[in-house]
Amino acid sequence: MQHTAKYIFVTGGVTSSLGKGILSASLAKLLQARGYRVTIQKFDPYINIDPGTLNPYEHGECYVTRDGAETDLDLGHYERFLNVPTSQANNVTTGRIYETVIQRERKGEYLGKTVQVIPHITDEIKRRFTLLNDNGDYDVIITEVGGTVGDIESLPYIEALRQFRYEHGVQHCLVIHLTLIPYLTAVGELKTKPTQHSVKELLSYGIQPDILVCRTEHRLGEELKGKLARFCNVEEKAVIENINAPTIYDVPFLLIKEQLDLIVLDKLGLPRGELKGLNSWKNFVNRLKNPSDEITIGLVGKYVELKDAYLSIHESLKIAGTELELDVHIKWIHSEDINTENAERMLGGLDGILVGPGFGERGVDGKILAVKFARENHVPFFGICLGMQVAVVEFGRNVLHLKDCYSAEFAPKCKNPVIDMMEEQKNVTQMGGTMRLGEYDCEIMEGTWAFKAYEKTAIRERHRHRYEFNSKFRNEYEKAGMKMSGINPQSNLVEIIEIPDHPYFLAAQFHPEYSSTVETPHPLFVSFVAGAYTTKTAKRKM
Ligand code: GLN
Repeated sequence: MQHTAKYIFVTGGVTSSLGKGILSASLAKLLQARGYRVTIQKFDPYINIDPGTLNPYEHGECYVTRDGAETDLDLGHYERFLNVPTSQANNVTTGRIYETVIQRERKGEYLGKTVQVIPHITDEIKRRFTLLNDNGDYDVIITEVGGTVGDIESLPYIEALRQFRYEHGVQHCLVIHLTLIPYLTAVGELKTKPTQHSVKELLSYGIQPDILVCRTEHRLGEELKGKLARFCNVEEKAVIENINAPTIYDVPFLLIKEQLDLIVLDKLGLPRGELKGLNSWKNFVNRLKNPSDEITIGLVGKYVELKDAYLSIHESLKIAGTELELDVHIKWIHSEDINTENAERMLGGLDGILVGPGFGERGVDGKILAVKFARENHVPFFGICLGMQVAVVEFGRNVLHLKDCYSAEFAPKCKNPVIDMMEEQKNVTQMGGTMRLGEYDCEIMEGTWAFKAYEKTAIRERHRHRYEFNSKFRNEYEKAGMKMSGINPQSNLVEIIEIPDHPYFLAAQFHPEYSSTVETPHPLFVSFVAGAYTTKTAKRKM
């Protein structure tokens, strides 16, 4: 078998939420910094074809790739860490695997055979393990296997991995098991037993992990590492401590101390290379930790109980703040809690207000009030997707005084649907994967905040929506002081709106948060944070 790439698999043990995504992204970052071309993919064991139909409460934010795939939020970490775009092929679900196999069966491609989990489902999983490297673009492919070892739904993936490793040889295919070492306060001890059992489980499926990465709240110590090595058949130096880090961006440095990158390269028989490409990352973490000032941004949304629902927005704000040496505090504001009586109390004192994306009417009134507050009180404002749509509704109602003015999403029969369903969406009956998704062109008008931010007129941004600004109202809005500063040149859809007569008021129909990375902070986030800071300092001087 010809080997054009090396494969690293990351499995999870003991419990979920240990941070397989951050571990994968951090390891990938280190290998990238040593000169390797790396990509990461995630296999999710649920039956949805993609997470696009999932409520954010279920699975956090739905991340959108350039090619319009609705994917797991870990892909956002991959892009933010590596600064390399991901695609549809980087996120595979059980639903997608079965869909492919069933379609093939319907075409008669299995030639009368009984179609079964083994070999047909496992073969399809194996095919997808290598799919990203069809063009030989990568030296190393890291595959995160979702779920926890022992789950019924992960079994086909673990079996596919066992076969893949047998077929490719261990020197081309490494298994890293991420596990938890809990600390029992009552006895003051770290406990290895759950990990021993988890490795035993993995062994029962025929897989010996090469490296154990141990999530822990306390230092492991040599003795404990030795014990884990002995009971889990792993080399002692391959028992890696993964202690709680101050920020996710510190994790690569913690892993360097544990020499994870070197152990991985040695085991795969790859030259160690020189760790050269980490300077800008170091600078970033330095700036993140040593801000010269701070601002507070109110993030208004209806899923704020679950911070992961706004993960990319959160990270994009932090990254933009770091670029400007500012610590951005985020105040999470539940849009359902805002009403006319308490708006001042909830929103007063903020340096900026961001109204985020969303679907459905719950909490929309509060979002409209937040926009009104920002517009009338000259608080810098940034709206994203639904955040732009509610800004348009607010302006229609309170500046243009349009009667019965709303979005057709919430009131299809209203007299003034200033946000209307896109023409191409009107005949769509299926929910999954049918929105306007992925990158589209946008032409920026010179002399606007958008132009100042991007410093160019032609941009491409990622979308995820069914509704749009209703162009019938464009003249009326422009006359009253709202500028349409970004337009799709092919479809004429309004992509960015601004109110120039305001300290900073900009909203976008697309999602800039999906394309903000550590190395390239998104210009619109940087300009919003800068706008908020300028307004704050101007107020201080007053
Ligand atoms: N619900 C709105 C639409 O479909 C906004 C979507 C979003 O915020 N992502 O157009």
